[in-house]
Amino acid sequence: MKNPAASYGVSSPENSHVTPQGAGNQTPIWGLKMKKLIYHFIARSMGYIQKEQQDKPEAKLEKILKHAHENSPYYRALFLHHNIVDDGRVILNRFHDIPFLNRDILRHRASELTSQNSGGRQTYWNTSGGSTGEPVKFLQDKDYLRASRAITYQQKTWTGYALGDAMIKLWGDDKEILLESKTIKSRVINVVKNLTLLNSFSMSAERMREYLRIINKIRPRLIVAYAQAMYELCKFAEEHQLQITGVQAVMTSAGTLHPFMRETIERVCGVRVFNRYGTREVGSIACECEHHAGMHVACDCVHLEIVDQNGTPCPPGVEGEIVITSLINYSMPLIRYKIGDFGILAEKPCLCGREGVLLQGVTGRVTDAFRTKAGKVVPAEYFIHFVGVVLNKGVIRKFQIIQKDYDLVNVKLVPAGGYGENDRDEIVRIIKIAMGENCTVHVNLVDEIPPLKSGKYRYTISEI
Ligand SMILES: [Zn+2]
Repeated sequence: MKNPAASYGVSSPENSHVTPQGAGNQTPIWGLKMKKLIYHFIARSMGYIQKEQQDKPEAKLEKILKHAHENSPYYRALFLHHNIVDDGRVILNRFHDIPFLNRDILRHRASELTSQNSGGRQTYWNTSGGSTGEPVKFLQDKDYLRASRAITYQQKTWTGYALGDAMIKLWGDDKEILLESKTIKSRVINVVKNLTLLNSFSMSAERMREYLRIINKIRPRLIVAYAQAMYELCKFAEEHQLQITGVQAVMTSAGTLHPFMRETIERVCGVRVFNRYGTREVGSIACECEHHAGMHVACDCVHLEIVDQNGTPCPPGVEGEIVITSLINYSMPLIRYKIGDFGILAEKPCLCGREGVLLQGVTGRVTDAFRTKAGKVVPAEYFIHFVGVVLNKGVIRKFQIIQKDYDLVNVKLVPAGGYGENDRDEIVRIIKIAMGENCTVHVNLVDEIPPLKSGKYRYTISEI
């Protein structure tokens, strides 16, 4: 780590600054230092900074496997069957023989996965919305939450942010927004954290104007946002010739950040985007640093693998399915969990010198890709690129392409001015090139396409 101070959220002299709420350049230097010290203390007491020395990731992996074997009936049987343990000892080099965990197992065998020995942990159930179908429930605990918070905070400091700096959260999760703004305690915490919450659910034109006013007034050090919501807000600002000023960094999360989205956000805000990848099930997984050369995997919290269709590890540069082992959830160990996303490992290390695994990118949900009857897989990027970028010369405001069957595709489209029959014919043609001439394509014009219950937005959905 090049700048240990920054990694623990204490601004170093070269990246320190005073927020608009502060006393500006008039603050004596000792006052600034005192402020930072106080916030450092608060960050520590809120669990954003880990007190203890961390084990090495490999030791953490071995420890969670041992715990799973001793406490989870599901893993005890599985490890026995696949010879993962010998005489009570975990054989780490047999890790890849552990069968993958998936949503179905999580859904139907939750009680067997749960640790029988709670060890005094304060547990709670969390839920993952799921793009289609019923949500999945999983058990987490306060220790998990603390470790998870610490890593998320550390990632935010990579943008130059430190606790106490003005931050805006443009968040698309009703439940979280309600939780964080409802109680007096959480409101007080938000004031201390200098945090303003904006709900990104169904952003109307009126609301977006209001959000832009708030952003320009606060001039936040950091905006943390749902990728799609931030993209839409920036697109709206650009279309209406409204400025976004004073923002110093944007961190996007929840949903794939496609290249055109990143370009728009960076152009409109005039700052770089730090993309972060995480899920409800395992928390923060990876995040970009100031070099934007890929996402550093949070090796203290997760062990990440990328595998091909046969379950074999993919070399760097080759796309595969992301498999996660949580190193911090002792209440319900999640080992070799196929999280449902595609990703690619980076071929080159990042210039920042941070150690560990580097993800080149997360390329989309497994259920975003379309399939033909003959077995051909068409990645979501094909449709997103052609419909969203090549064909879209400002005539498409929003779209969603849904594969209903092997030969049936529905397109929902919110048109902008100038959209016509030619555009529709081109969309149908592009889809047929990939899905075959026999594929029926319906293009339906709609007023709005709402995000999923989880607040995330999907450009393509395969229902097969
Ligand atoms: Zn880096």
